[in-house]
Amino acid sequence: MDHNRRIGQLRRRITRAGLHGLLVTHLPDLRYLCGFTGSSAALAITRRAARFFTDGRYTAQAAEEVSAAKVQIVSSPPAANAVAWLAAQPGIESAGFDPTRTTVAELTRLRAALPSHLRRTFLTPLAAPLVEPLRWVKDEDELRILSAAALLGCKLFEHLLGFIRPGLAEFEVAAELEYQARQRGAEGMSFESIVASGPRSALPHGRATRARLPRKGFLTLDFGIIREGYCSDMTRTVHLGKPSAKERETYEAVLEAQEAAVAAVSGGVRCGDVDEAARSVLRKAGLAEAFSHSTGHGVGLEIHESPRVGTGQATRLAPGMVITIEPGVYLPGEFGVRIEDMVAVTRSGGQVLTPAPKTLIEL
Ligand code: ZN
Ligand code: ZN
Repeated sequence: MDHNRRIGQLRRRITRAGLHGLLVTHLPDLRYLCGFTGSSAALAITRRAARFFTDGRYTAQAAEEVSAAKVQIVSSPPAANAVAWLAAQPGIESAGFDPTRTTVAELTRLRAALPSHLRRTFLTPLAAPLVEPLRWVKDEDELRILSAAALLGCKLFEHLLGFIRPGLAEFEVAAELEYQARQRGAEGMSFESIVASGPRSALPHGRATRARLPRKGFLTLDFGIIREGYCSDMTRTVHLGKPSAKERETYEAVLEAQEAAVAAVSGGVRCGDVDEAARSVLRKAGLAEAFSHSTGHGVGLEIHESPRVGTGQATRLAPGMVITIEPGVYLPGEFGVRIEDMVAVTRSGGQVLTPAPKTLIEL
């Protein structure tokens, strides 16, 4: 990872925003900018210098991981130290902070770390985040890691196809999935695995419960693993036993919508247009009301990143973005179907990173 290049890009953004310095406290941002994977740290950046603050528990880890910033070990909260350091730098009159990542209590503590004449004016809330937009477009290293994470997800899905049988509890399926994930090198799961069977498949966020897999009915599996800090995310819906005509038609409609949205992905295309590609298929099938969420989201160091691929979203896709395409149809009391791929945006289209089968599988 080229952290110096990332810090350089951030500096240009700091200058363009008319700021002298920036405080970074959001942990995924810190990992992105300087490689730190611990849980307590702050980064202070000026146009000339970058200093990384963490506490004594991370002395060895910071020395090993952090690049592109000088490390300082502190015994009080790292963010307060970072703010005090920024205020002490020559020529620095103000520093930005991200108000969406800072609680009121934290802001009060940060201000208390400043000399009294600077308390009201020094810390400036950013109008828009500065680090996050850098993270939207992935570089080659990140694309390689995300692709490997997505492929591991596909392998796990294939493994589950041989494991799933009627009578198992949903949590047993989740346990097998997560055990196999760790066995195969995952650092953890990107989020709590969704294993929703029978009528529970109509819950878009049906976490694994004690419910038993039925002899007949859908089973939705939505899960992701973490590899080198990066999240994968995929959904497949399979059927136990023989599907009814209605179940089959609904599945086909969701699959058609999903493939239409994947086909709409390309650099320069508006996120809202990708969403509409999926939505219009389901509208024609009379299922518009049953598709109750956005088509997708960005994914990377965090499971949900920008851009949001939703109705009317004007953000344009750029080559290097990685998004999910995950339309679903939910018929409460009956069943639900969702199919989700991760797609890397290219200049002229999209590359699917999760090539697991999507034709309706009957188990
Ligand atoms: Zn998902
Ligand atoms: Zn997702």
